[in-house]
Amino acid sequence: MLTASKKGKIERIIIPTPFAVGDVNVYLLIGDAVSLIDVGPNTEEAWKALERGLSIYGLKPSDIDQILLTHHHVDHYGLATRVQERSDAKLYCHPLSEMYVTRHEEKMKQAVQYFNQFYLRHGVPETEAKKAIGLSHLYDVYGTSAPIFGWLQDGESLPGHENWKIYHMPGHSQDHLCFYEQEQRVMIGGDHLIKHISSNAILEAPQVEGTERPKTLLQYRDSMRRCLDFDIQRVHSGHGETISEVRELILNRLERQEQRAEGMLTYLQDGAKTAWEIANQMFGERIEQEMSLILSEVIGHMDLLQDQDKVTTKMQDSIQYYYSK
Ligand SMILES: [Zn+2]
Ligand SMILES: [Zn+2]
Repeated sequence: MLTASKKGKIERIIIPTPFAVGDVNVYLLIGDAVSLIDVGPNTEEAWKALERGLSIYGLKPSDIDQILLTHHHVDHYGLATRVQERSDAKLYCHPLSEMYVTRHEEKMKQAVQYFNQFYLRHGVPETEAKKAIGLSHLYDVYGTSAPIFGWLQDGESLPGHENWKIYHMPGHSQDHLCFYEQEQRVMIGGDHLIKHISSNAILEAPQVEGTERPKTLLQYRDSMRRCLDFDIQRVHSGHGETISEVRELILNRLERQEQRAEGMLTYLQDGAKTAWEIANQMFGERIEQEMSLILSEVIGHMDLLQDQDKVTTKMQDSIQYYYSK
């Protein structure tokens, strides 16, 4: 196929999103297959930007052979079905993406039930918990139910791009993947590493019912440390600019998290508190609109403090309190 893009080159296409995070970057990778890494949210503006972006390289959505997802967030995968409707594009993702990418009704319902209980256990008033769950449904319109063709697994190569290896980097999301090309020392990093914002280690319900929730901030820190072992010259992120000082950024993020945890510890000086109480003291009114992200932040850092043996928990009247040791 004759295109304006050289085989093996990574081309960035910037797609607008309706979210606070701003634009999302999707990447065109041409190897033995024409692949899109992430596609953008399911909006008309995003679709137009994708068509425009592809046309620069002489391509149309119908030319896409594969969609390879870094993770399941709607700003990254929502347009998948629309691309698939116009092409034979095969969608590949991590197995843990499945329930979100296919909008698996039963599992999504279980996740909602889990969070309802979870919020109440962390001291969130019932009306606020309902509101937060209602808000999370707003995102559904930017997603889609897309058929999955195959899995992307840690240590394997990207289909159609033998030189690109897949690494499972849970933390920002449970299914998060990074793709690495050793010769160019380049990583496609999704939301694992972003230059201008520190990525949130978002809480997720356990996918196997009855098991414990993943401690997302601890996972995220492990995944960042794992990246330190790679020889990386550039990380192409899911949002914002390409990162060249990768090591510095990772070390900075890790340190900031420790400082933030220390800061949160001071809220426990005058006695035990719930995650909701800490969140209110720290974030005030902002909690209204961003409760799930803010609770991820607070509970994640409490997990870190527990891991450092500085904080412990106790249950009282079915509500979990954190107190400093
Ligand atoms: Zn994300
Ligand atoms: Zn994102």
